[in-house]
Amino acid sequence: MVKILDGKIIRDKIQRELAEAVSKLSTKPKLVIIQVGNNPDSSAYVNQKKIFGEKIGVAVELCKFDDSISEEAIAEKIEELNSDKGTNGIIVQLPLPTHLGASKLISNIDPNKDVDGLTPTNVKKLLEKDSRGFVPATAKGVLALLDYYEIPLAGKRIIVIGRSVLVGKPIALSLLARDATVTVCHRQTKNLSEETKRADIIIVAAGCPGLISTEYVSSGQTIIDVGINLISGKKFNEEIGGKKFVGDVDFETAKDIVEAISTVPGGVGPMTVASLFENLLKAIKML
Ligand code: NAD
Repeated sequence: MVKILDGKIIRDKIQRELAEAVSKLSTKPKLVIIQVGNNPDSSAYVNQKKIFGEKIGVAVELCKFDDSISEEAIAEKIEELNSDKGTNGIIVQLPLPTHLGASKLISNIDPNKDVDGLTPTNVKKLLEKDSRGFVPATAKGVLALLDYYEIPLAGKRIIVIGRSVLVGKPIALSLLARDATVTVCHRQTKNLSEETKRADIIIVAAGCPGLISTEYVSSGQTIIDVGINLISGKKFNEEIGGKKFVGDVDFETAKDIVEAISTVPGGVGPMTVASLFENLLKAIKML
């Protein structure tokens, strides 16, 4: 019988622990999110962070700018937040409109408030296995999910599909830091199924619904599905508006073959939010 890797129970446990830690602080922590424009996915993610923050007693403040905002104006805001003692963490909600240089803007964030772990200082710390840095929340969440279910990583052959700066690369680096043998696959990878079938663990973060189907998996494997895809169709009438969130794995068929698998929703998503707030509490302790 397949083991379902449930991120919600771990999220709830982290939530309780963080709420207790926050209750012992003399001032209410604050996370500031900079959002540009009205990307509905971004707004949904911001909302999840607000809800989680509220549950643990952290103020989550949204600095929302119009699409037409200049890079200089955002950089100024970041400078202001860097020197604001009441702000413990700063996030630039991605993606940004194309006229704004996301990586340049993010590099302005004080590395000690960079709870998304995307500034050059924190990326270098991840490369160097320096535990004082902040690991991007999705990578941290994936590792926490694997650890909770006691899935060994050292010496294991792990395939990461996706190589984005925000998701795939930090996952691969975090696994390398845990002595796994990591292969990173992407759109140009030839014979993806050959790579995936011989892995002990498959971690897929491609944003491609149904990418991992039965011919990509084998028995005994663990699959972590990071993908979040909103698909629509009559088939999903049971969901509000005929839409449904799915991952990158064809869950219904893969689950009958592999040993353990995470769900979408309910797997990595809840872990990501919880891990972000773990980073925020770490930022407070570092002050
Ligand atoms: P991205 O578009 O920046 O990167 C996707 C990566 O996947 C690329 O490196 C691309 O080469 C690779 N890829 C795409 N299609 C592929 C294919 N058919 N075969 C092999 N490789 C392929 O996306 P991202 O920001 O890295 O996000 C990836 C997915 O993870 C998205 O579905 C996103 O919504 C989801 N996501 C989930 C969480 C979470 O908390 N669960 C957090 C962030 C992102």
